[in-house]
Amino acid sequence: MLQSPVEFFRNLPKKVCPECGEQINEQAESYMMECDRCLAQKPE
Ligand SMILES: [Zn+2]
Repeated sequence: MLQSPVEFFRNLPKKVCPECGEQINEQAESYMMECDRCLAQKPE
């Protein structure tokens, strides 16, 4: 039996910022590797 896409994503581990360990809120597309706070600290 196939899992629904919702179940599939729910079972994925939460993405965590490699810089500070903060859980990343995945509302944007997955190019975001770091949390908002760490991204804001980057020069670019
Ligand atoms: Zn971070």
